[in-house]
Amino acid sequence: MIKAVTGTKDILPADIPKWRYLESLVTKIMKQFNYKEIRTPVFEETALFARGIGEATDIVGKEMYTFLDKSQTSVTLKPEMTASVVRSFIEHSMEKKQSLNKLFYISPMFRQEKPQAGRLRQFHQFGAEALGSNNPALDAELIIIPFWILKSLGLKNLTVKLNSLGVPKSRENYKKVLKEFLQSKIKDLSEDSRKRFDTNILRIFDSKDERDQQILSNAPLLLEYLDNASLEHFEKVKQLLLSAGVPFEIDAKLVRGLDYYTHTTFEIISGSIGSQSALCGGGRYDLLIKELDGSDTPGVGFAAGIERILLACENEKVLSLNEESLDLFVVTIDENLYKTAFEYSLFFRMQGLTVEMDYLNRSVKAQMREANKLNAAYVLFVGGEEYIRGEIILKNMKGSEQFTFRKTELDKVYQKIISG
Ligand code: AMP
Repeated sequence: MIKAVTGTKDILPADIPKWRYLESLVTKIMKQFNYKEIRTPVFEETALFARGIGEATDIVGKEMYTFLDKSQTSVTLKPEMTASVVRSFIEHSMEKKQSLNKLFYISPMFRQEKPQAGRLRQFHQFGAEALGSNNPALDAELIIIPFWILKSLGLKNLTVKLNSLGVPKSRENYKKVLKEFLQSKIKDLSEDSRKRFDTNILRIFDSKDERDQQILSNAPLLLEYLDNASLEHFEKVKQLLLSAGVPFEIDAKLVRGLDYYTHTTFEIISGSIGSQSALCGGGRYDLLIKELDGSDTPGVGFAAGIERILLACENEKVLSLNEESLDLFVVTIDENLYKTAFEYSLFFRMQGLTVEMDYLNRSVKAQMREANKLNAAYVLFVGGEEYIRGEIILKNMKGSEQFTFRKTELDKVYQKIISG
């Protein structure tokens, strides 16, 4: 038997209402903040991600689904969206039409990670990018948006972690200090961290290794080495979050190891989903667009993982949606009136109702059972003696009242159904 590939999951009909609910909530809140939706291809040239995410990251180094297509072009299934959005922004000269572009997306992503709870190889993210302004109000806005979305779902166990990376110049000074601090301890670091010591020293802070963490607990912190302008930017972001009622913790070890990240970096963590606890991450990347051969345009964004958010909702027992239901089930009493039942069903569907009928030649009793199971508000009987008299009967499944109509009076039947 062929099964779904490891790390991928079917989203079955029973789960779809939650996905739809979340997607429409995202769309609604993005509209309130005037973000416009963008959809980019599922795959891009590999070079885009190599440059846009960085060779030294786990994503590019280990996790990408990369293959040669038939024309020997190396393509990659998108592991994240920022690089694709920036590519599209540059390709379509968006900054010429609008000086600030606020974009959002909902899309599948692909990373060949080791699957575990909350970690998949095809997963889904929603997110947003604001391209064209270095105003700290946008850093704050892009934290407030996912926070509002998570709160609107009813999630409680949330922590916003916040840090500032400043600008590359002050970061370079800090890297020297960190290197000095770690130099004598290098032999005690994990193998991964030893590698990062040379390639991307800031990312040692991402290590989950306990011994690494212990060594780092006394390390000097980047926040202590920020220049005044960066501190001012950070202060403004904090003030805006406070006035928006978004609680946050400063986490001076929250780093992004690449030079085009600047200023704000943040994560929203859930205490309800185990070790893969980040629901959302983001920050400012004022140097990325230039890095990808665009103009010197600042940017800031976030991405949130839908599967993890729905897992948090499940564990916190929030987001219980009403069960699916039908407005009407058309019961076919006589098999030879099948065509009439089919036409009646079409008529009510055309009016906008959700309608089901029997396709399995079931007995009236079995059809009633099915109508019950599907939560039908009404059933309409087609057939029997009343039909011979020119009548059809509508039954309210909750109150059990019955209403008789002429079979030419489908409009009146419809009025009855929508009047409740
Ligand atoms: P990132 O792009 O790595 O900053 O991830 C942003 C968010 O996407 C994370 O906070 C997670 O919620 C989600 N995410 C990242 N990787 C995975 C994965 N492999 N499986 C499921 N969700 C993920």
